[in-house]
Amino acid sequence: MKSCLAILSAAMLLWPPAHLNTILAQRLPAGEFHSTRERAIDLLHYSADLKLNIAEKSVSGAAEVVFHPLRRADAISLDAIRLNIEAVQLKREEGAAELSFAPRGNSLLISLDRVYSPPDTLALLIRYSARPNAGMYFQTDPDHPERTWVYTYGEGGLHANWLPIYNDVNDKFSSEMRIAAPLPYTVISNGTLLGVETGGEGQRTFHWKQSLPHSNYLIALYAGEFEKGELPPAFGDIPLACWVPKGRLAEGAYAFRNTTRMVEFFSQRFDYRYPWEKYDQVAVPDYSIGAMEHTSVTGHRASVLRDASAPEDFGGPDFDYYYNVWTAEGTISHELAHHWFGDNATCKNLGSIWMNESFATYLQFLWDEESLGRETLLLDCQTALDRYLEYVEKERLIRPLEYHYFDKTSDIYNEEHTYLKGAIVLHCLRRVLGDEPFFKACSYFLRRGEFSNVDSRDFAAAIEAVTGRNLDWFFEDWIYGAGHPVFEISYSYLQDRQLLALKVKQVQPMVEGQGLFTLPVDVTLVTAGKTERRTFWVDEAAAEFFIECEQKPLMVSFDGAGNLVAEIRFEKSLEELAYQIAHDEFAGRIRAMREAARRFPGHPRTLAALSGVLSASAFWALKAEAALLLGQIRTSEAGKVMAKALQQPDYRVRKAAALGLAQFPPQFAAPLLKNLLERDSHSDVAAAALKALAKNRPAGAAPLIRKHINRSAWYREITIAGLEAFGEIGDAALAAEIRPYAGENYHQDIRIAALNAWKSCAPADPALHATLVDFAANAPYEVKLEAIQLLGQLRVRGGEAILKQIGEESGDVNFRVEAKKALQAIERAR
Ligand SMILES: [Zn+2]
Repeated sequence: MKSCLAILSAAMLLWPPAHLNTILAQRLPAGEFHSTRERAIDLLHYSADLKLNIAEKSVSGAAEVVFHPLRRADAISLDAIRLNIEAVQLKREEGAAELSFAPRGNSLLISLDRVYSPPDTLALLIRYSARPNAGMYFQTDPDHPERTWVYTYGEGGLHANWLPIYNDVNDKFSSEMRIAAPLPYTVISNGTLLGVETGGEGQRTFHWKQSLPHSNYLIALYAGEFEKGELPPAFGDIPLACWVPKGRLAEGAYAFRNTTRMVEFFSQRFDYRYPWEKYDQVAVPDYSIGAMEHTSVTGHRASVLRDASAPEDFGGPDFDYYYNVWTAEGTISHELAHHWFGDNATCKNLGSIWMNESFATYLQFLWDEESLGRETLLLDCQTALDRYLEYVEKERLIRPLEYHYFDKTSDIYNEEHTYLKGAIVLHCLRRVLGDEPFFKACSYFLRRGEFSNVDSRDFAAAIEAVTGRNLDWFFEDWIYGAGHPVFEISYSYLQDRQLLALKVKQVQPMVEGQGLFTLPVDVTLVTAGKTERRTFWVDEAAAEFFIECEQKPLMVSFDGAGNLVAEIRFEKSLEELAYQIAHDEFAGRIRAMREAARRFPGHPRTLAALSGVLSASAFWALKAEAALLLGQIRTSEAGKVMAKALQQPDYRVRKAAALGLAQFPPQFAAPLLKNLLERDSHSDVAAAALKALAKNRPAGAAPLIRKHINRSAWYREITIAGLEAFGEIGDAALAAEIRPYAGENYHQDIRIAALNAWKSCAPADPALHATLVDFAANAPYEVKLEAIQLLGQLRVRGGEAILKQIGEESGDVNFRVEAKKALQAIERAR
């Protein structure tokens, strides 16, 4: 049932939907159906006793698996990908029994000595070795080639590449790692460090044990030359630490300085104390995935390490936007948030992965709200909405948050849907329920789902149990349904009747997965001396609402607070837009600025409104948006206003000004960008200016790039910008200068920037093709993935053999699918 939150002062009129084919249609992605995997055993405890052979990039030893059979069985199967199994024993009081076994594809079939039934507890000891090509990574440090870093990553079933195990998410067990590594390696894993034994041959064995149950993909192993930095314990007794490469403790202390407060904040916000034994954060050079929330020990790429002078970007620096929700702090809070949502209550299958990722992303927004203020939460929501809408427009794909069709796991971990849209859907749900009921329902859901597996139905049931609300309609539209509403809004003021008639249409395409949406919408009406807020329920293709209003309004704002996941098209007079730019809430102000710049670019009133934002004591992101929009206007008058943006104390506004200046005529912009490059105190602004210069005046940019490309900066971000700038120029003669940066003595983001710049400048260069073949065979995770994709994009025939091999042999489905796609692209071009 839909309830009405506000009493309307007049009747509602309806129109037939006559305009629904005006927007290019979207579709649901195809893929193989995945549901919750059936289990034959219930793992109780898993322990591995392994030796790391660093030079051979291999492991050897034994795993002990303690389990109940879930049905009568005389054989069991474990996941095991390219493991060399030597022996399997059944541990018994009367002595171990040797069992026969056989590999079956990516499984290990073990024959038991008799039939066992559900009450029985069995312990198997499996001796094996492995040289994994996925799941466990041995990686050379680009800055210190003598150092190797070992880390593991298990999402998508990768741990079966180095452990014989049940490798889906829907089984929880305690785990234990006894890992031997040569001096000076330190090994870090889940839970508590029970001891370190020094053995012969310069080996040390680290014994870690996690007592609370978790899913296999959350098992962690990190080995390297780490230094440990203690952080203040949360609540005085939860141990917190960071582990960083030797010599980088000060940067670790700075990067992770707020972790204690975060642990306490999430514990209090969800009325659920951090449950795990400890919390470690590990920073590893060229870590493959941005960061990974292994239970009680999160892995980060070393770019998280920084001091106060560094920009806030987390992974690779970004020179296309002035803000990205993946700040270092945002990523740190996201991974910690998983220790409630994901590591504790875990999705039942990857089709419900939003239960892990959308929650963790929204919790990171909540930490921003707590630590930086409500405006940063609203900025996070707006940024998430912008990126999601850009994705849908570009890819024409829409995807329900709960969705079971995919070929590779990176599809279901789609950032724009699973992380960003999911987070703002939760923000919308918070508006629908109200703060207190929303957080109470989340807390109840956590308690019901603790140390077990959950799906969307469990969350809906928790909401119903706590609040009494039946939100089937919300889940139908936002969890099981795809897409978003596109609202076309208009209004007229009926002077004689003192009524405002507000027309609301939903004009999104009616396609499979996306229909009409049901939503409460907040409308703010401002007249001279009076501000009124009304809430209307929208659930039809078109409706008209009448609101009593004594005077013609100065502003009618539709969802000015930005609670909706929607596109809002609301054409207004410039006069009203100018008022809205100065007076509405954050989302309304952003939308009004964009609308004014789009429809009235040359008008002095538009410039006056943007100039007003830059002069006022406004939130920095409003100023940054104003600076960026000046780049759309590009007139000399806009250039004068840009001077204000260039003098802003917040570096992010100056960065936005650099992005905006790239659009101006070169004779105006180039000297200003050169000035930012050479004199700005912040490396992020200088780097953005370097790339903007190449976009703005490619002809004159190369000497400046050469002069600055090796300038020292956090994560060598000016080098990355310089390579991207070379790519903007696209001149074949630059290939020789770009090529060295693809080498292994540079970190992965420099190497990827170099490969792309090289491709832009000399796509047919045989040396580039040979390099891509080489990197597809052997390079750090992300460089390898980039090389595979570029081989396909460039139709490199010499890449066919390696792509075929990866497509058949990689233990990582993402590599297999990407290699097959690349191979098909090459074959099609024959
Ligand atoms: Zn996550």
